Amino acid sequence: MRMTQTQLDMLKVQLKKVMKNSPFYQEKFKGINVDGITCQEDFEKLPFTWKGDLREAYPLGLMAVPEKEIVRIHSSSGTTGTPIIIPYTQKDVDDWADMFARCYRFAGITNMDRIQITPGYGLWTAGIGFQTGAERLGAMVVPMGPGNTDKQLRMMMDLKTTVLCATSSYALLLAEEIAKRGIGTHIHLKKGVIGSERWGDKMRSRIAKELGVSLYDIYGLTEIYGPGIAINCDHSKAMHYWDDYMYIEILDPHTGEPVEDGEIGEIVITTLVKEGAPLIRYRTHDLSRFEPGDCPCGSKHPRIDTLIGRTDDMVKVKGCNIFPSQIEDVIKDVEGASSEYQVMIDHLGGKDILTIFIEVKKGAGKTDVAHELSSLFKIKIGMTPLVKPVDIGELPRSEKKSRRIFDNRY
Ligand code: ZN
Repeated sequence: MRMTQTQLDMLKVQLKKVMKNSPFYQEKFKGINVDGITCQEDFEKLPFTWKGDLREAYPLGLMAVPEKEIVRIHSSSGTTGTPIIIPYTQKDVDDWADMFARCYRFAGITNMDRIQITPGYGLWTAGIGFQTGAERLGAMVVPMGPGNTDKQLRMMMDLKTTVLCATSSYALLLAEEIAKRGIGTHIHLKKGVIGSERWGDKMRSRIAKELGVSLYDIYGLTEIYGPGIAINCDHSKAMHYWDDYMYIEILDPHTGEPVEDGEIGEIVITTLVKEGAPLIRYRTHDLSRFEPGDCPCGSKHPRIDTLIGRTDDMVKVKGCNIFPSQIEDVIKDVEGASSEYQVMIDHLGGKDILTIFIEVKKGAGKTDVAHELSSLFKIKIGMTPLVKPVDIGELPRSEKKSRRIFDNRY
């Protein structure tokens, strides 16, 4: 994907500001002639910004304006170690609300909608992002926050909520409750805006069917404003992103080099106008790809595919980048294979060996399943695995998202 002239011009202004005001980038870009950047290729020589850099800047080391201009901070949840703190100026908060309102419009949501917000409020960016965007749009907000399903459903019925904002798992839970209680006819939902993560088509169609809604994937991360930087429209599953606020690169996570347009890689984001904590070439660890071609909706905002996974889930075996979702795609097409699998990668006798343990449905021939899986894997992913079929229930189960890939090479 080529950087546009407008983006390049914005970037030059942004880099100048950053070098003047951000101690974090003054340090990071020390010895680099940032003023000498005149094209995309120059820009691509700048070092990346990593999550770890942001942690080291805790608490306010990312601040790139005088403190009197900061109106709010948000923080990433940080399951491990030090959290990341992102300071926002009033302009950042306004820009974010504008982007989010644009997301709602792309989903066909208007100021006559009633929007029930179930993601959490507080330090993280979810609830408040959905809210300020809805207010900017002029819609009626029902600010529920997470949990309390009884009250959620009551509000949803009594206020005739038309739009549900939720994570995919909470949307599914509500859908199941509505079905269980037989209150479907009292629900007036038309659309669901779901925080983007890797969620299967099966789950998507279940939620859509049970709630009777059209679903939209909304993307974002705390480090870059929050949710609301990309969403899909009615014509495409891929998400339009706001290229007037950010520059997105898709790179091979191992080499840091751009992948071909349409190939899967890591989303790397540069903010073009952010003030409080601008980020240059930020490695998101999210995997996606540029969706080629123009969207039938006519929008010129470019698109990235729904998230394919995280770079941490990705492994490289015999020169092939492999993601869990690809493996699941192959397994899905093998008759007799159940959805439960485990992958082991070992380095034996100077060679990488990838072994798939797959649970085989009762009555299905193990040899047939192994053979079919192996050849389909070769066709779709490009290498031949060793397949070990096992009985249903033999692989470990866990309530949490179970880990499926074990890399024993290092
Ligand atoms: Zn579109």
